[in-house]
Amino acid sequence: MILAGRKILITGAASGIGRATAALFRAEGAAVALVDRDWGSGGAGEEDGVFRYTCDVTGEDSVNETVAAAERDLGGLDGIANCAGISLRKPLEDISLADWNGVLGVNLTGPYLVCRAAVPALKASGKATIVNVCSGASFRPTYHFSAYCASKGGLLMFTRAIAFDLAADGVRVNAVCPGVIDTPMIERAVARAPDPDAAIARFKANAMQRYGTPEEIAKVILFLSSDASSFVTGSAYSADGGLTYH
Ligand code: NAD
Repeated sequence: MILAGRKILITGAASGIGRATAALFRAEGAAVALVDRDWGSGGAGEEDGVFRYTCDVTGEDSVNETVAAAERDLGGLDGIANCAGISLRKPLEDISLADWNGVLGVNLTGPYLVCRAAVPALKASGKATIVNVCSGASFRPTYHFSAYCASKGGLLMFTRAIAFDLAADGVRVNAVCPGVIDTPMIERAVARAPDPDAAIARFKANAMQRYGTPEEIAKVILFLSSDASSFVTGSAYSADGGLTYH
C-alpha cells in the first residue's frame, strides 16, 4: 500500500488512463477525489475514501469550487494527477478558433487551473506531488495534430516550470508521456479514420508493436506520486513502447 494515507485528486477519472489511475491509487491505499465533466453511467456508487465531482476543468470557478470541496472532503491534498484531455486530428486550415481554444483549454488551461487552485493545500502537505499526463506528442509531431501537439508541448514545459517554482515547498511535479494507449480516446480515433486498419497499424508502429494499456500508464503515475520517486522532479517519463526514444 504505497499510497496509504495519501489524499489525491485525479481529473479525467471517468475513463481510460484517469479511471485506471483511480483504481490503482485506491488499491494502494490513497483516498481519492475523482473529477470528470461526464460520468456517463458510471460513478454513481459511494465508497469509503472515494469522492466524485462533476467539473469541467476549463472553468475557473468550477475548478476552484471543486478543488476546495475535494480538500474539505479528503481533509487536505497530497497530490494531483491531471489526466483529463481531448484529442483533435485536423489539418491546420480546418482548425477553427473554437477547435483550437477547446484543445488548449482542456489540455493546458485545465491543468494550470487545477494546479493553481491546489497549490496552497499541496504546500501545506509538505510532501506533495503533481503528475501531468502529457504525450509522445509533447516531443514529436504527427500529421494533422498541431493543436494537440501544441497543447501537450505546452503542458510539458508548464510541468517543468512549476517543478522549478515549487521544489522548495516540497512539491514534486512530473510528466508522464504515453504513446498510443488502448482507451476510448483511441477507439474514437480509429472509428473516425478513413482507413481504420491503417490507423491501427500506424498506432502500433512502436518498438513493441502494440498499444499500451491504461494500467501500464497508471503504474508510472503511481511511481511519480509515491516516495519511490523522491528525487524526481521536472522529469518527463515516456511510457510509449519505444515510440519516441525520449
Ligand atoms: P479518455 O477519453 O478515455 O478519457 C479522458 C477523460 O477526460 C474522459 O473521462 C473525459 O470525460 C474527461 N474530460 C475531457 N474533457 C474534460 C473537461 N473539460 N473537464 C473534465 N474532464 C474532461 O482518454 P484517455 O486516453 O484516457 O486520455 C487521458 C489523458 O492521456 C489525456 O490527457 C490524453 O491526452 C492523454 N494521452 C492519451 C493517449 C492515448 O493514446 N490514449 C496518449 C497520450 C496521451
